[in-house]
Amino acid sequence: MPRTDFPTDDHLNISQIGMMQRCEFAYLMRYGHGVKSPPAWAQAFGRAFEVGIDAHYEHKLESGENMPEGDVVDRNVGAIVEALEEVLPGDGLKLPETVDAMAKTTRVFHGEIASLVTPLAVQPTFSVELPREGREPIRFVGHPDLVMDSLGGPVLVDNKTTGKSGGWSEADVAASLQPAAYSLGYEMAGNGLIPHFEFHIARWELKREKKTQVLVTPVTPEERAGMKQMLFVAASKKDWILQSGIGLPNYGWQCRGCGYREHCQKEWRRKPPE
Ligand code: SF4
Repeated sequence: MPRTDFPTDDHLNISQIGMMQRCEFAYLMRYGHGVKSPPAWAQAFGRAFEVGIDAHYEHKLESGENMPEGDVVDRNVGAIVEALEEVLPGDGLKLPETVDAMAKTTRVFHGEIASLVTPLAVQPTFSVELPREGREPIRFVGHPDLVMDSLGGPVLVDNKTTGKSGGWSEADVAASLQPAAYSLGYEMAGNGLIPHFEFHIARWELKREKKTQVLVTPVTPEERAGMKQMLFVAASKKDWILQSGIGLPNYGWQCRGCGYREHCQKEWRRKPPE
């Protein structure tokens, strides 16, 4: 008999929606049972990369000056050394290679992007309510990485790291929920319309430094309206999973490095693909 007494709240964010899309069983483990899984290597790398970059933008916001490259690199290297202690065993590169990749990637990103950007806000949080008929409203929360000044107007930015040899593609941009979701939340919080969104992408490779990417995508009123619909659907799905206590596994590429493999195999009596 599945448990059906999970605590529910009205809060929804992009990472919950992404997790529900990837795998309902993983979502149930995380948000129903409250089991936190250690991050995969790529996730830990991306989070550690943000530590120094955020500090750089905060410093620049306060002082108008760039943080020296060496200080940003030191922060990111310190963050990844700490993070690797918790990474899933056997996942990703070992410490010396990872530190080297982090130092190179941070240096290039600082030179090509971070030192040229004029920040307006770092990790601004929004929390807005979407009314639902006959039910409590959905509280949609989020924090884009950065608001930057672009030709006199604000633009929302998400920082990414990738080890893909060709970098991010148009398909990656099209598949991302962040442009529409963050633009919608930012607008609903009373900050005005954001006509386009940027991905600032740091690329890493073991043997050499790789150029960064800046990918710009427009956000149309139709996309914001579509995102609103998606939030309603996601909120219903979330309620269903937590109230029924059932989350179906979704076997595929996302099983590699998943922190819930053992729970999944035990519950569904089937080995997830490697
Ligand atoms: S192993 Fe695969 S199917 Fe199982 S919880 Fe993880 S992502 Fe879902």
